[in-house]
Amino acid sequence: MKQKRFLLDESELPRQWYNIQADMVNKPLPLLNPATKEPLSADDLAHIFAAECAKQELDQIHPWIDIPEEVQERYRFYRSTPLVRAYALEEALGTPAHIYFKNESVNPLGSHKVNSAIPQCYYCKQEGVTNVTTETGAGQWGAALSYAAKTFGLECAVYQVKISMQQKPYRSSIMRTFGATVTGSPSMSTRAGKDIITADPNHPGSLGTAISEAVELATTTPNCKYTLGSVMSHVSLHQTIIGLEAEKQMAMAGEYPDTIIACFGGGSNFGGLAFPFMRHQLKGQRDDVRSTKVIDFIAAEPASCPKLTKGKFEYDFGDSAGYTPLLPMYTLGHTFKPANIHAGGLRYHGAGTIVSQLLKDGYMRGVDIPQLESFDAGLLFARTEGIIPAPESCHAIAATIREAKKCIETGEEKVILFNLSGHGLIDMTAYDSFLNGDLVNIG
Ligand SMILES: *Cc1c(COP(=O)(O)O)cnc(C)c1O
Repeated sequence: MKQKRFLLDESELPRQWYNIQADMVNKPLPLLNPATKEPLSADDLAHIFAAECAKQELDQIHPWIDIPEEVQERYRFYRSTPLVRAYALEEALGTPAHIYFKNESVNPLGSHKVNSAIPQCYYCKQEGVTNVTTETGAGQWGAALSYAAKTFGLECAVYQVKISMQQKPYRSSIMRTFGATVTGSPSMSTRAGKDIITADPNHPGSLGTAISEAVELATTTPNCKYTLGSVMSHVSLHQTIIGLEAEKQMAMAGEYPDTIIACFGGGSNFGGLAFPFMRHQLKGQRDDVRSTKVIDFIAAEPASCPKLTKGKFEYDFGDSAGYTPLLPMYTLGHTFKPANIHAGGLRYHGAGTIVSQLLKDGYMRGVDIPQLESFDAGLLFARTEGIIPAPESCHAIAATIREAKKCIETGEEKVILFNLSGHGLIDMTAYDSFLNGDLVNIG
């Protein structure tokens, strides 16, 4: 019988994360203070983030960062995640390609986001922080943070975009089940929120309003830190647990990928899977760890939010209101308003600074997936592999199917590895709209 799922024993789980910045030939450019245009130091960042995360954010020296024991212990609740050979999908497509996926949907929260929520809350606890806060749109990050905060005994306050809170009520139920306080943004609980509501009493909220409120809470509350679930370099660092496990699991399967694919919002699940494999290709690597095989790294973004293929590489704000530092990245402009597609986690105008530099230097490429193609792919995946994918993950599946179909023409038995970043069980309204024929392609 052919083996379908590959799992690691607890003793084989990675004990370090991989920091790709240390091996990059062209390092990411510095984050800038928007007022002075001076590069930000770790001390500057530590005003809002946990000090250890601020340090990791700017570390361009150490390729390996120890995963604290307590974090490893929490990872063992659900890791390793399975590497799965998608035989049924291959058969349905009639492709000679070998398709594998890393299943990050099998954890208490259903997406990869918890891989970074756990260390961020751990470092806060270590540093004497008592409260964490964040913003969330669709709610995957807020849910992951609520769970992680509870396990480390921290209070958690989440500002959720008001309109998303109404559209996706179960995500706030999940956050509240884990003990978090969830506030629809804009709210009357902050100066920023009051100003927005005074100007526009019916404001539906946006990530911009929610970021402003969360940052205000963090900077005005003693012992309170702000956290982010994507874009920042320390977040992709934590996510490399995905690729480090996958490397060992691919070896168990006796294969090495030709193509690696992940969906792309800010870049954390893409970087998490890709960076450990990419390290073998970086020019700065020693001969003994350099690979002769060049992997095709593909980031799948929504056609309606195409920062990788149509964005500009320049300094821009991370939020729509212009409160964050200036980030060197591929961006559609911080005032870009992404269409209201169902893949909420991919509706972001910019790309993280590491992935932006790697894209500029030709180590990876972006592809654009129209909304209907993403759901077609998600449906085929659900009907063959038995897992309903998150609308975000459907983009990675669609890009995988495109590559697998090329193999039908060429007859190549390419090994394709993609990341299943989450399941879609709380996104069934999106599937309903698709099945009812109400969805359209935007952009
Ligand atoms: C948040 C999210 C994404 C997008 O974020 P990245 O940082 O680009 O990984 C993708 N998939 C799921 C399931 C998410 O929750």
